[in-house]
Amino acid sequence: MAYLSQTGEVLLSQSKAIRVPDYYIERPEEAIQEIRAVLGDFHPLLAAMDMAIHSAWAAGQGHPLHRIWQIEAKNAPPSSFTIALDTPERMVERLEFSGDYPILKIKLGGQDDVTRLKAIRQATTKTLRVDANEGWDRQTARWWIERLPDWNVDLVEQPLPRGDREGLLELNRINKGRIPIILDESVHISRDIPGILGTCDGINIKLAKCGGLLEARKMIHLAREHGLRIMGGCMLESSVGITAAAHLAPFVDFVDLDGAALLADDPFDGVWFEKGQVRFPDRPGLGVVFRGNPHDIFGE
Ligand SMILES: [Mg+2]
Repeated sequence: MAYLSQTGEVLLSQSKAIRVPDYYIERPEEAIQEIRAVLGDFHPLLAAMDMAIHSAWAAGQGHPLHRIWQIEAKNAPPSSFTIALDTPERMVERLEFSGDYPILKIKLGGQDDVTRLKAIRQATTKTLRVDANEGWDRQTARWWIERLPDWNVDLVEQPLPRGDREGLLELNRINKGRIPIILDESVHISRDIPGILGTCDGINIKLAKCGGLLEARKMIHLAREHGLRIMGGCMLESSVGITAAAHLAPFVDFVDLDGAALLADDPFDGVWFEKGQVRFPDRPGLGVVFRGNPHDIFGE
């Protein structure tokens, strides 16, 4: 998460402070809470530990985590596939990589957004979602939310910068839920939820932002209590993170778990997607396996 200055090097040095004794694996929630207390805001690292602990806990019982949690993959909405912000021509070219994903998430937030969306809308009949990534000002955001429903766009993500609470309140008031406004950068953990009430229709929950499955499940409960809609999202990440996040997919309204599909060389095998529908491997724990030689990552 470079946008929070949490690079791989920083996280690796923090990870050396943590040791997970074997007995903790029998009590995953307790272990994760204690590690959270040590790590503070290092949420991506906490997420990695949370995934490892949940996986070890389930594998210790000899079962896939999705079976222990009685996850029904068929209840998950289909995932979208992201088209990164680029020139309109290159974004249209990228459409061919979306394969059989039925929904496209289009990154906007630049000067040529109308040209971009028009070109993409003409090139595909798939459902579109728009993620402005904080890239619009108030006037632009207002212009877009009044027009997006006419473009067969079914939601808009983070239309304004995370700090512009007044702008988001006003935008949400004007929109009246016509097109769901989902906040991503504005909301990291459950503690952020009370502060965004009234400014949106829903939130994007990501394991790397919130610190893992334990916190994400807490966020889902809290968001539902407040009548918020939920997107289950991801960063650009391997099948480890995507497989863990897929365990929440049946409990959200919008799934955006294409992080591993966007990698040129995913080092892991885990969940896969057919027409955007998640499929779980039948292996103990998270069911993730490393494709290559562990020494390439961990050394001798
Ligand atoms: Mg986003």
